[in-house]
Amino acid sequence: MSWNTLSDKQPYIVKLLTNSIRKERLAHAYLFKGNKGTGKKQVAIQLTKAYFCRAREASEPCDDCSDCKRIDSGNHPDVHVVAPDGQSIKIEQIRKLQKEFSYLGLESKSKAYIIEHADKMTTQAANSLLKFLEEPGQKTIAFLLTENPHQMLDTIRSRCQILTFAPQSQSELSYTLQETGYSKQLAQTAVALTNDQKEAEELLNDEWFVQARKNVLKLGEELHERPHRVLLALNEYWHPHFKEKQQVGIGLDLLLLWFKDVFLTQLEEEQSIVFNDCQNILSVQALHSSQSRVQQQMMQVLEAKRRLNANMNLQLLMEQLVLRLQEG
Ligand SMILES: [Zn+2]
Repeated sequence: MSWNTLSDKQPYIVKLLTNSIRKERLAHAYLFKGNKGTGKKQVAIQLTKAYFCRAREASEPCDDCSDCKRIDSGNHPDVHVVAPDGQSIKIEQIRKLQKEFSYLGLESKSKAYIIEHADKMTTQAANSLLKFLEEPGQKTIAFLLTENPHQMLDTIRSRCQILTFAPQSQSELSYTLQETGYSKQLAQTAVALTNDQKEAEELLNDEWFVQARKNVLKLGEELHERPHRVLLALNEYWHPHFKEKQQVGIGLDLLLLWFKDVFLTQLEEEQSIVFNDCQNILSVQALHSSQSRVQQQMMQVLEAKRRLNANMNLQLLMEQLVLRLQEG
């Protein structure tokens, strides 16, 4: 890993940190906040390597000395990584860390620690760490990583330099998810709804979501092909699947994506559509409908979302929506 590679994901953060390394102005404690998959740990490791490396050039660690190699393989004696033990990070884990730090650095007289999911520290663990952050006895550098900064103690946050990691772009996130093994179609759909990797994975691991996508595609097709039976379709496969308000919300978001895809097809921007496994059906609808009608349909779905938030009856809301979508 080089700063250059990391810079693709987090240009601002890399610039700031490499500057600090060159000027030898690193903070004693950093709080990295950002979604899963934004590179927080990779940046922490890279900075740790730059901090320890004996053959560093400017801000770039050599990746070849014994310090770099041992940090990469996770067994450097002066670099410690703490992660939740089960649901939380417990006080024993922080005490163990403090004990390690009470010995002088074995080789370099410097030490570094990375706390993953730092928001999962119990109150006792957090208070114990707090004392530790207040009295950095020697040359140390701390990285606290979190996806939920608001669940951390203010007193801890105020002792760290806070860096916000930018969320992944839709295409990056889709690519990451596909590498994890999800199909392109499903990954694209999930990232169209959220740019948080964790939330996207939760959707993708949920059979309900996979079926919801199928049902929305079916409804999208039927609205056009068999408009006379859409009310029947609602009873057949919409109402039984989208029972809760939050589920209807996801259904409406997906339906909005459907009309957006029709619109993009009309604009000949097929490379941007989400439901690329339905390109043929989308093309037919794009051809048989006007741009203004499709825009109107998108507005109607948005209006339904507004009514959903106003707690309208879920079945009635959908029935009114499909009737309006057929008008034109
Ligand atoms: Zn090195």
